[in-house]
Amino acid sequence: MAMPNASAVSEARIHEIGRDLFGRVRGEAAGFLAGDRLTAGLLAWAMTDEDAKLQLFRFVDVLPALGDSAETVRHLRDYLGDRPGPFARLTRAGLVVADLGWLGRQAVAGFLRLAVRYLGRRFIAGATPAEAACAVRRVRRAGLTATLDLLGEACVSDDEAAAYQARYLALVEQLSPAARTWHAHEGLDAAPWGALPRVNVSVKLSALSPYFDPIDPAGAADTVKTRLRPIFRAAQTHNAHIQIDMEDHRLKDLTLQVFTELCAEPEFRSNRNVGIVLQAYLLEAEADARRLVEWALQRGAPITVRLVKGAYWDYEVARARLEGWPIPVYAVKSQTDACFERLTRYFLERANTVDLVLGSHNIRSIAYAAACREAMGLPPKSVEYQVLYGMAAPLARALSEQGERVRVYMPFGELIPGMGYLVRRLLENTSNESFLRRGFADGESPDALLAPPQAGAPAEAAPAPAAPGSRRDALPPFANDPRADFALAIERDRFAEALAGVRRQFGRFHPLVIGGRSVETPDRLASLNPSRPGEVVGWAASATAADVDEAVAAAERAFPDWRDRGVRDRAQLLHRAAVILRERRTDLAAWIVHEAGKPWREADGDVIEAIDFLEYYGREAMDLQAPRRLGEFPGEINLYLREPRGVVGVIAPWNFPLAILTGMTAAALATGNTVVMKPARPTPVIAAYLVAILEEAGLPPGVVNYLPGPGEVVGDRLARHPAVRMIVFTGSREVGARLYGLAAQTVPGARHLKRVVAEMGGKNAIVVDDDADLDEAVQGIVASAFGYSGQKCSACSRVIGVGRAYHRLLARLVEAVRTLPMGAADQPATVVGPLIDQAAQRRVQHYIAAGRSGARPALIRDVPADLGSLGGYFVPPAIFADVPPASPLAQEEIFGPVLSVMPAKDFEAALALAMDSDYALTGGVFSRSPTNLRRAEEAFRVGDLYINRGITGAIVGRQPFGGRQMSGVGYQAGGPDYLIQFVEGRVICEHTLRRGFASDRLARLEG
Ligand SMILES: Cc1cc2nc3c(=O)[nH]c(=O)nc-3n(C[C@H](O)[C@H](O)[C@H](O)COP(=O)(O)OP(=O)(O)OC[C@H]3O[C@@H](n4cnc5c(N)ncnc54)[C@H](O)[C@@H]3O)c2cc1C
Repeated sequence: MAMPNASAVSEARIHEIGRDLFGRVRGEAAGFLAGDRLTAGLLAWAMTDEDAKLQLFRFVDVLPALGDSAETVRHLRDYLGDRPGPFARLTRAGLVVADLGWLGRQAVAGFLRLAVRYLGRRFIAGATPAEAACAVRRVRRAGLTATLDLLGEACVSDDEAAAYQARYLALVEQLSPAARTWHAHEGLDAAPWGALPRVNVSVKLSALSPYFDPIDPAGAADTVKTRLRPIFRAAQTHNAHIQIDMEDHRLKDLTLQVFTELCAEPEFRSNRNVGIVLQAYLLEAEADARRLVEWALQRGAPITVRLVKGAYWDYEVARARLEGWPIPVYAVKSQTDACFERLTRYFLERANTVDLVLGSHNIRSIAYAAACREAMGLPPKSVEYQVLYGMAAPLARALSEQGERVRVYMPFGELIPGMGYLVRRLLENTSNESFLRRGFADGESPDALLAPPQAGAPAEAAPAPAAPGSRRDALPPFANDPRADFALAIERDRFAEALAGVRRQFGRFHPLVIGGRSVETPDRLASLNPSRPGEVVGWAASATAADVDEAVAAAERAFPDWRDRGVRDRAQLLHRAAVILRERRTDLAAWIVHEAGKPWREADGDVIEAIDFLEYYGREAMDLQAPRRLGEFPGEINLYLREPRGVVGVIAPWNFPLAILTGMTAAALATGNTVVMKPARPTPVIAAYLVAILEEAGLPPGVVNYLPGPGEVVGDRLARHPAVRMIVFTGSREVGARLYGLAAQTVPGARHLKRVVAEMGGKNAIVVDDDADLDEAVQGIVASAFGYSGQKCSACSRVIGVGRAYHRLLARLVEAVRTLPMGAADQPATVVGPLIDQAAQRRVQHYIAAGRSGARPALIRDVPADLGSLGGYFVPPAIFADVPPASPLAQEEIFGPVLSVMPAKDFEAALALAMDSDYALTGGVFSRSPTNLRRAEEAFRVGDLYINRGITGAIVGRQPFGGRQMSGVGYQAGGPDYLIQFVEGRVICEHTLRRGFASDRLARLEG
């Protein structure tokens, strides 16, 4: 059939339709922002002060989660007390009443709860399916129909996913018989192509699996299809329409995959009552639309597309910026509007393939669609218009008066989990760019609002040039390297290929490197794959004490030249090494997967951090080591120099086998020291590749020497060696403390005392306050405690639940971990992989066995049978509850997937528990109480405190990383003070008065 043609769509007609709509809604501005005048008034009021608005919405967000009236009043004071802005008088009055005593607090808290419930009910159609069904009946009486959306907590476990599935099924099965009793409405329940189902349900796929993760599209899609299939079946049986909502960009391709694969299955292939959402703000929207249409043509039955602009614009921009990824959405609102119009036209031109639904409150966007439909000669009601419950009600009514089909998107569910949705709506309504705000709060003219969107992009602001002559202009400014985005097929394919390619290179031998020479040794170390220890990843030479002496001598010989080479040169060399690492990043990550048993994302993060260290320390050293003239006195030049120490022994861990090794080495090199590098016993292969890359970048012989070998031989000899000036160590407390002691002893021939920098682990706690957002807390804790099987010094190993949060938190944590994906590290979905070796496996098993009697085992999983057959060093995740604070589970570093959960009666007690440890490395707090967060900042004194997020994954230059107490000695890695440890000061004071001319020493020493 010929496609309809919209070439004749005219601006005049768009304006005519738009003005007609504006005319019909004139005088109902309040109804646009919210369903009632009170709420609309509140929103209009909030818009007069951005800061007060955000505080108000934050307060609204937390309010339903608060326990008693004292807490409610405290939060009111925290968020809105003492603040100027539109709510100041009201808040003050409330606080005066609250200060009258118990009764006053009760009254204020009761009023606030009522107010938030009232507000929630403006945008949320009810708490139960029965209430939702009543709301549907109400809107049908008003000449509109509905699609129902289930609100709920974020899905963090299989249990919760199954519960969501049951709720969706119940909705379809219970609503469908009820729908038969709804009075028939020809205009609503029929489209030009035939009758429409009365029941229409919108489904979010992330609710159907806790692991809806694009890193493993096949596995994730299978899980979700298994849960969605019965819902599709029930909908088919009961004649209901299923519409799949679109969430954030990360899930977009996966959502499309699930939808298209399921709809193509024989039993659903001819079903027209299925739909998907496309978001016009995405740069990829038009390409997706073309692919979807091609697929629908092949399938042979039309599908519904709900075209929207997209609800996550701020999130997408912020996330892309945080990650350093390209921003996936248009930068300018009018570009989104223009794309929305292009897509409207595109789909209308394919009306035989796509039943178009427009989800928008923008009269221009709607008028464009109406004019386009007319111009194409498509019959009335070919397009369905959808609005959100509680918003743009006058527009819905006006469209319905014009004879259009209008459906209301009705979320329903409990208020606490619904708060996220409510706050999103409040923010959307009141955002500066919003059509609703511009049209119905700011009162812009209809003509301005009906103007065609400009599709052009504004010119990007050029980056500020570096200050002329600045030392750093030798290199571009530092920026963190972005992690791989495994939502992209190209990244996943590249990674899978690298894993296979690297596997073909297993078994190579890596000799020592001393003074640039390869040195073989009688003994060899086998590097095993922890997922499959039968596989030898590679062999490394095993150094003896004599090799250490030779390597130190080589490093001593190389030192003067390297020291005098100039900091700028050294930084450029490190930058060249970073460039090579970047080129080989996927191969290097693949080696880490195989050699250290790290899952994909973690291995990729390891390489990225290594690149960051090379780039960061080079630049930091240029600042640190620029000679400084102290004071400006005639006749005197005082030069302050920061000079390298000499030979540095770098003793590295296996858990960040590239990142930490590179970081410690790069810090030493950037500042002009030479290095004898001892990689960890289990990971010599990746270290050998690092050394090869440094050589390739131009590092002179002897500046880095590669000495794998047993710790008691190589590490101890380095710590004792009279010519080694500094030991930089990361590893266990036991080894760190021993090296510290050895290094402190003066030995014959030594002319200095050694400096030791040691990073030694932690027993890190996360405190979950009783007002915390448990969705966020559970996700943050699971990632921090079980990512890389808990083998990070920053990992969370204690959780402290405050008051009533404890039991709910524990229950959700247990369910979340019960089905956390375990597997070999090379499988993309794996979260919990193997431990590093058999000794670690036995040690952690021992803790789990002992824990059974010392605390309450809330969950001890079994290792799946298929993993057992690999022979890998797997240990099942375990959670212990009610753990006594003094027990080994609560005090000793376990370095495995074992989590201790403890109750605390209040926040203060929780902080005391958190600090009751020999260690003080990382810590976390989930809380929505500003007072408690301030208190945590004061009292939770650890190296890195994280608020309302997980506690692992420190980023170079952003979260300098390192602890205090028994967690380590020295300044934090990746931060502004780290390099100072690698230098010592020297002052040159020159008297110049008699000579009568200025010294050129400063100029000579520069660079
Ligand atoms: C019935 C219905 C169902 C919906 N379902 C979904 C869904 O499944 N998934 C989803 O993501 N959203 C969904 N939405 C929300 C929708 O995407 C919009 O957020 C919302 O409708 C506002 O768009 P508008 O056209 O009504 O208003 P307008 O004010 O015209 O547009 C606002 C939109 O413009 C975009 N925008 C804002 N600032 C910028 C900027 N600086 N640069 C570029 N673009 C910008 C954003 O997308 C923003 O939401 C739905 C909306 C409705 C009405």
